[in-house]
Amino acid sequence: MYINLKEATEKAERLNCTIGAFNAHNLEMLPSMIDAAKEAGSPIIIQTSVDTAKYIGYKTLVTVTKSIANSEMVDVVLHLDHAKDFNDIKNAIDAGYSSVMFDGSSLPLKENIMKTKAVVDYAHKRGTSVEAELGIIGGTEEGITIDGSEVKYTDPYDAKYFAEATNVDALAVAIGTNHGQFKSKTNVNIPLLAEINEIVETPLVVHGGTGVKEEDVPELIDNGIRKFNVGTELLVTWTETAKKYFGETKVNKSLRHNIIPCNEAVKNIVAHKINLFMNKERVKI
Ligand SMILES: [Zn+2]
Repeated sequence: MYINLKEATEKAERLNCTIGAFNAHNLEMLPSMIDAAKEAGSPIIIQTSVDTAKYIGYKTLVTVTKSIANSEMVDVVLHLDHAKDFNDIKNAIDAGYSSVMFDGSSLPLKENIMKTKAVVDYAHKRGTSVEAELGIIGGTEEGITIDGSEVKYTDPYDAKYFAEATNVDALAVAIGTNHGQFKSKTNVNIPLLAEINEIVETPLVVHGGTGVKEEDVPELIDNGIRKFNVGTELLVTWTETAKKYFGETKVNKSLRHNIIPCNEAVKNIVAHKINLFMNKERVKI
């Protein structure tokens, strides 16, 4: 089924698990990603940046995702990641994305609330979920780098005020993770997350999940993380595999000889992460 983010996080809340949100950078990798979710029996969030959505086409992404979700009977959310422009968000919602993120994290709190509210009003009327962000997450996203001095951890009381004022469906928090981090692992600020989760009802989201230590995942789940973003690891793996195969294969051999191994490599990572995120051994039924 093609579902929205609210439906996915409600399920995660019930099962005390988190839902993996994986960035698709091209259409090729999409069926393999959903296949991994199907085999695990888990919902999946497929997310794209605005630039990837423009490259593939919003409508094409919706059509393909819906078609696979329905024919394979997997719960899939299609989510627009880090949109800052209302027009991009409208394009995604109008094309049928089931979830969007408005990233007003660089704005003053009041302006972030006002703009997020406008997105929520537009989206909720159309059955689309909204994620927003409070605090400033470090690292590099779509070529824009936030260095250490600009990082701002999420303030728990601001988060509570923001979530209640905007009625967002999910809130991304800055707790020490970094976009694009893949050569090292970060120290997530779990006490801060616990503090936020204590007073904020809204499901919480971690960005920069590639840089999170796997042993920290259960604690993140226990402290309200219901959407777990993983992008860089997929991108790096797809590209490394493509370099290897494209480098070795004769130029007149079908492209599938090069691309299938890339998709398989991505599928293996998605499968591994979903297994962690399902939190199976510890699940409360
Ligand atoms: Zn992000």
